[in-house]
Amino acid sequence: MNTIEHWINGALTPAGSTRTAPVYNPATGEQQASVLLAESADVDTAVSAAAKAFTSWGDSSLSQRTRILFAFRELLVKHEDELARIISREHGKVIDDARGEIVRGREVVEYACGIADALKGSFSDQVSRGVDVHDFRQPLGVVAGITPFNFPIMVPLWMHPVAIATGNTFVLKPSERDPSAANLVARLYAEAGLPDGVFNVVHGDKVAVDALLDHPDISAVSFVGSTPIAKYVHERGTASGKRVQALGGAKNHAVVLPDADLEYAANHLTAAAFGSAGQRCMAISVAVAVGEAGDRLVEILARKAREVTVGPGSDASSDMGPVVTSAARARVIDAVAQSGKEGATVVVDGRALTVPGHESGFFVGPSLLDNVTAKMQAYQEEIFGPVLAVIRAATVDEAIALINANPYGNGTAIFTGSGESARRFQREVKVGMIGVNVPIPVPMSYYSFGGWKDSLIGDSPIHGPAGVRFYTRAKVVTTRWPHTENHSAAFTFPTS
Ligand code: NAD
Repeated sequence: MNTIEHWINGALTPAGSTRTAPVYNPATGEQQASVLLAESADVDTAVSAAAKAFTSWGDSSLSQRTRILFAFRELLVKHEDELARIISREHGKVIDDARGEIVRGREVVEYACGIADALKGSFSDQVSRGVDVHDFRQPLGVVAGITPFNFPIMVPLWMHPVAIATGNTFVLKPSERDPSAANLVARLYAEAGLPDGVFNVVHGDKVAVDALLDHPDISAVSFVGSTPIAKYVHERGTASGKRVQALGGAKNHAVVLPDADLEYAANHLTAAAFGSAGQRCMAISVAVAVGEAGDRLVEILARKAREVTVGPGSDASSDMGPVVTSAARARVIDAVAQSGKEGATVVVDGRALTVPGHESGFFVGPSLLDNVTAKMQAYQEEIFGPVLAVIRAATVDEAIALINANPYGNGTAIFTGSGESARRFQREVKVGMIGVNVPIPVPMSYYSFGGWKDSLIGDSPIHGPAGVRFYTRAKVVTTRWPHTENHSAAFTFPTS
């Protein structure tokens, strides 16, 4: 059986690791590989390689960096099929959805190709007599990325192209559940001409994460994953003096007003709730049906949920693949059962679904719950599976109050034909990313991605302009070139 190794200093290596974790094919339930789990000495080896590479990469020209990023972008296009297959085989998502995450991740590389523009500083002429001021930004050094299973290529791509374009060197610790895409990305960087040690991959679990968080030669950590781990990473990383951005979990609400096109809204909610088996941080997991929209919306949603084709990600006719592990499947089944016990109506029940020929796969069908209340477990917990809960609200104000009381604030959407309601919604809701008749409002790469409240710990969103700021530090320079014989200096602050 294949053992997935680390990528350190431009080559695959087992380093000193002996511990491994199984990597499953979620569509069959079978173990298909093992992945090495780094010890802290392995992390140290990767960080040393990255620190050595920084001495020249940190000084490389903008032209050199962009040339490599352009070449890397072309290789991501060329290897799109291979990458999509790798992702689907380890994550379970359908191939077209895997392609989608590659394209959205590649857009961050495209943004990073324009780094020369994004890094331009400002210049103020003659701030005082004969004095000018300018600023510029410099890389931090070695930075680390710790990423979740649900987007094994896109989420790391939110980080490393911007970090590398701004002159840093990078150590990625991807999810141990679907680790292979990271190694192919490393190979493509090498093929694009990136010097050894600028991009490294260490596979692992908490041991590797802790070693990164405590390592004195790492300047910053980007984390994306669940909220409890985001809080932990932020606390431990900042305690050791690092800059930390930590994106956490979500419970995303879509509000549907009676004046919306309900067929349109239900179509989009179905795709947003059950696409990727609900394992997206921007998945819609709660539909808030306002007023008389409720009964009709639930009726259409139920029909559409029953029409979802569940099957292996490699089958082009599948809309939705399995969830990532048998534990994830058990969690989803449990959440649906619990909601029934707490009084919700299980309108569509996906618990018993089996896929012929794939009986041991981690499949669970779409579930639709109605009459859910804010007190129920199905509302309070991030289920991270194909479960859509419908909460009834009397007014748009009630819907906004519900969203604002929720601890998460990643994404939200409103479906309406009213500009006035949409405007009020976007101004009043305490959520970072908002869609108007758009269910999954993921910002483009030239904006920044980030939620509010428990969906983002720390204060830095990811990629785009915020990413450039996160991976760099500013210097402000005040300059005078004396050209007279007057050498006098004032003991008071200059005022002209
Ligand atoms: P996770 O928090 O379990 O794992 C994320 C990373 O942390 C992995 O690399 C994992 O190895 C590591 N990790 C896990 N447990 C750890 C521990 N005890 N100590 C140190 N490190 C640990 O998340 P996941 O299950 O891989 O991904 C799903 C979660 O990620 C969901 O909560 C989802 O909402 C969230 N997510 C958020 C965003 C966002 O942009 N806000 C994007 C994608 C996923």
